[in-house]
Amino acid sequence: MANAAQVQRMSRLMIKTLREDPADAETASHKLLVRAGYVRRSSAGIWTWLPLGKKVLENVSRIVREEMDAIGAQEVLLPALLPKEPYEVSNRWDEYGDLLFRLKDRKGADYLLGPTHEEIFTLTVKDQCTSYKDLPVMLYQIQTKYRDEARPRSGVLRGREFQMKDSYSFDVTDEGLAESYALHRAAYEKIFARLGLDFRIVSAVSGAMGGSASEEFLAPAAAGEDTFVDCPACDYAANTEAVTVKVEPVDGSGHGPVEELDTPDTPTIEKLAEHLGVPASATLKNLLVKVDGEIVAVGVPGNREVDLGKLGEHLAPAVVELVTAEDFVERPELVRGYVGPQGLAGKSFRYLADPRVASGTAWITGANKEGKHARNVVAGRDFEVDEYLDVVVVEPGDPCPKCGTGLKIDRAIEIGHIFQLGRKYADAFELDVLGQNGKPARVTMGSYGIGVSRAVAALAEQTHDEAGLCWPREVAPADVHVVAAGKAKQTELALSVGEQLGAAGLRVLVDDRPGVSPGVKFTDAELLGVPTIVVAGRRAGEGVVEVKDRRTGEREELTVEEAVAKLS
Ligand code: ATP
Ligand code: MG
Ligand code: MG
Ligand code: MG
Repeated sequence: MANAAQVQRMSRLMIKTLREDPADAETASHKLLVRAGYVRRSSAGIWTWLPLGKKVLENVSRIVREEMDAIGAQEVLLPALLPKEPYEVSNRWDEYGDLLFRLKDRKGADYLLGPTHEEIFTLTVKDQCTSYKDLPVMLYQIQTKYRDEARPRSGVLRGREFQMKDSYSFDVTDEGLAESYALHRAAYEKIFARLGLDFRIVSAVSGAMGGSASEEFLAPAAAGEDTFVDCPACDYAANTEAVTVKVEPVDGSGHGPVEELDTPDTPTIEKLAEHLGVPASATLKNLLVKVDGEIVAVGVPGNREVDLGKLGEHLAPAVVELVTAEDFVERPELVRGYVGPQGLAGKSFRYLADPRVASGTAWITGANKEGKHARNVVAGRDFEVDEYLDVVVVEPGDPCPKCGTGLKIDRAIEIGHIFQLGRKYADAFELDVLGQNGKPARVTMGSYGIGVSRAVAALAEQTHDEAGLCWPREVAPADVHVVAAGKAKQTELALSVGEQLGAAGLRVLVDDRPGVSPGVKFTDAELLGVPTIVVAGRRAGEGVVEVKDRRTGEREELTVEEAVAKLS
C-alpha cells in the first residue's frame, strides 16, 4: 500500500505559483521562493511558510537536529518572549540598540523578543547544573528569533523574524570548551555538506557576542551581504572584517587625506561622502575599522550596509558594540586602543569602506572629550586625533598572507557562526559549578548559530537555474514530481506511478490538477525544483513515462516498472 502521506496530489495542495517576480525582489531566492509558492511576505521581513516551503524548512531542521543529536547536544525550547533583566545584566539591552524588539506587559514590565539566547541558556544551566560532574553539557534549540533589521530585504535571507538553530556549550576547562567547539565545527561541516551547500569556513570577528575565537560558515553567492577573501591555492579564507592584506597610504605620505576631517564643526557625514566620492545618501558595504595598523572590525549592528544618511545614528552604536566588547580588550594582538565605556582609550579610529564600493577613504570617530560616545562625532571637535592611520585596501590578486597566491574576493551569505565565548556570560551571571577540588569553578561557554530559514534561501541562491529552483534531494519538498500531461489516461497513469513510488518509500508530488495545461504543469515542475520529474504524457497508453533529471535536464523514456525500479 502506498503511504498516503508520501503522495501529495497537487489538486489538493494549497499552491499558487506566479509567473511574475514580486516587484520588490532583488535576489533569485526571493523571487523564486515567492513565485514557486513556498513563502509569502506577511509584512516587512516577516514571512509565511506555505506547505511546500514548510517541508523544505522542516528538512533543513531535521538535518540540523540529527547532526546536533549526533554530537550529544540536547534539544530544548526556551521562550522567545524574554524579560529585560538578564539582558541588562549582560548589557545587551543597551548594546543591541534598535535591533531589539521591545515590549511591555500589562503591568508595564519590559520584555524583548529574543534575538539570540546566551543569557537565558546561561541562567538555565545555572539552575540545572551544580557540579563539575554535570558538565560538559551542550544544549540547542530550533526557534524563532527576532531582530529589527535595518534592511530586511532579500526575502527570507534576512528576516526580522527568522528560524535559527542556536546551541550553547558549557565546560569547566578551556580544553573542554575547545573540544565542544571542535565538535560543533565538525557537525556544521556535516550539516552544510548534507544540505548540499557550497561553503567556506572563515575566521571572523566576534563582535557584540564577545569571546575570543569565532568562525563563520559562508555560502558563496552574489546575493550575499558578506565579502570574503579566498585563496585559490591554500585553505586561507577570511571575512574581510578580519583580514589585513595590504596597507597602502592614500597619498603616499603614510597618512590618509584626513586633515579635512580635522575641521571643527564640519558635518562629518557629508565629509565622509565627499571623501568617498559618493552621494550623502549612498549605501556602503562592509565598513572596516582599523586600529593602530590592525583591522579590528566590522560593520554595523544588524546590517553591514550603512545608509550614509543614517550613519550618524548607526556609527556610534557600532563602535560601542564592536569595539567595547571585552574580547577586543582580551585580544591585545588586535587592539591597542579601544573605545570603551570610559571613552577613547588613546587611539583614533578610521572606518574604511569596502574598496569595491569606494576606495581610499578615511573616517574617524570615537568618544568625545568627556569620554561619552558621541554621535556625528567630528574629529578635533569631539575628540582629539592622536594618530592617523593608513588606508587598507584589499583587492583581488593581493597576495595571500599564508602562501602568497593572488586572492579572490567574493560575496557570500553567512549561514552559520560559531563562537568560543569564554567566561563573558558566566562572569556576568556568576555561573559556577563545584569543581573537582571542592571549590567553585567558573564555567566557560561557546555559542553556535545556524540560520535555518536563511539556509533555505542560500540553497535557492546556489542551486537555482533560469527555469526555477533546483533542490538537492535531502531538502527537496519531494523526491519525485509526477506530471499528468494530458487527460484521464495520463492522470490515471500519473497517480498509479505516484502510488508505486510512494509505496517504495519515496516522497511524491503528483500534478493531477484538472484543467491545467501540460505546458503550465511543465513550467511549474521546473519552477518548484523537485529533483526528478516523471511525465505521463504521449505514450501513457503503452505504460511509458519520461524520467527527467531536473538539474541536468537528462531525460529518458522508461516503462513504469523500469521507472519505479530506477527511482526507488
Ligand atoms: P548577519 O551578519 O547576516 O546580520 P549575524 O552575524 O548578525 O548575521 P549571528 O548573530 O551570528 O548573525 O546569528 C547566527 C546565524 O543566524 C547567522 O550566521 C545567520 O545564518 C542567521 N541570521 C542572523 N540574522 C538573520 C536574519 N536577520 N535572518 C535570517 N537569518 C539570520
Ligand atoms: Mg546581524
Ligand atoms: Mg554576521
Ligand atoms: Mg554572525
